This record gives sequence, C-alpha cells and structure tokens, in this order.
Amino acid sequence: MSDVKFVVCHECDLLCREVSLKVGEAACCPRCGAKLFHHNRSTLDQTLALAITTAVLFSIMNTFPLMALHLQQNTRETSLFGAALAMWDRDMPVLCLLVILTTIAAPALQIGIELYILLNIKWGKHPQTTSLPMIVLQKLRPWSMVEVFMLGLLVSLVKLKDLADIIVGPAFWSCAGLIVVSAIMGSMLTPRHVWMWSQERKSHAHL
Ligand SMILES: [Zn+2]
Repeated sequence: MSDVKFVVCHECDLLCREVSLKVGEAACCPRCGAKLFHHNRSTLDQTLALAITTAVLFSIMNTFPLMALHLQQNTRETSLFGAALAMWDRDMPVLCLLVILTTIAAPALQIGIELYILLNIKWGKHPQTTSLPMIVLQKLRPWSMVEVFMLGLLVSLVKLKDLADIIVGPAFWSCAGLIVVSAIMGSMLTPRHVWMWSQERKSHAHL
C-alpha cells in the first residue's frame, strides 16, 4: 500500500493529496478554499474523557433545580424538564415540545451516540462500524441547542424577573460547562478523527 493519502474536498469534490500539518494548522482546498481538516492533538482517550464529562454535566443539569417560578404567593423550584412541563400547563404545547426536543432529547441522544462511537472504537469488537452513528451525529448536532437555551434563559432572567428567577446553582453551572465542553467535543469528535482512531485500532489489532 502506498504511503500517499488523499482527501476529498467536501465542498467541491476535488481530490487533494494529504499534507502533514503542525499542531494548530489547517489544510484548505486549493480550488474552493474550504477547510479540509485541521491538526489538533486530540486523542481517543482525551475525547472519551470529555464525552464522559458531558454526560455527567448533562445529568447534573437535569437533576438540580434551574428555575424558581413565582406562582401567586409561593415559589416553586423546578428543573429544566419541570419548566418545560409548566409551559404545557400554560397552554404553550409547541414551546414545551421545542424546549424538550432541543435542550433534553437531542443533547441526550447526541451524548449517547458520542459515547457509543468512542467506546466502540476503544473496546468494541467491530471498531469500524461507526459510520452510521457518525452520520446521525452530524445530522443531530444542529438540533442540540443548549447554548441557545442558555441565551434565552439569560434574556428571560432580565425580562421575567417578576415571574421566574434563575437559580445560580449546580444546574446553572453544569449548563454553562456543558456549552464549553460540547464546543470542544465538536472540534475533537470529527469524522476524520473517528476514521483515524479506528484505523489505529485496526492496525494495533493486526500486530
Ligand atoms: Zn474544494
């Protein structure tokens, strides 16, 4: 097998010869200028550790109360899911479903798939069977909008200060942490890295 590797531009399909990069550098397509890949030091173990961190932060975010709703005389503390259900009770079913989809269901599925891919490459019997989960992950990422929700939360903190307060506690800080960690995950768990890690695993298995 030749040592020369090729990479296809995902924008214009130009076949480019792969070049070796220094850490922090990126390779761009010579025809259309699209970024082909960048080099960072992320390893499978680091990415797996980060994926476990997102799972822990996500669990904390959904367990502890995130909001205090003021209802007449009393105040009720509620988690993210509880807040979404409160919207259902106030005849806002579309908003309720949208919040559940973008801040609970999609991130949960995303974290689950990320863990599945990484654990499968690390210890699975068939480390190559990650293409379908990877495609699903790429489609799912735009629907997972914890950061958009966080922004909405901060706006509502100012706008609705008579109706609800944000509880700056474990759930709030996990949400903030989750935004940062998910952004880093997005740059580490790329199809190219997944391909490289599975190839490494395969070559180790044949030694
Ligand atoms: Zn191109």
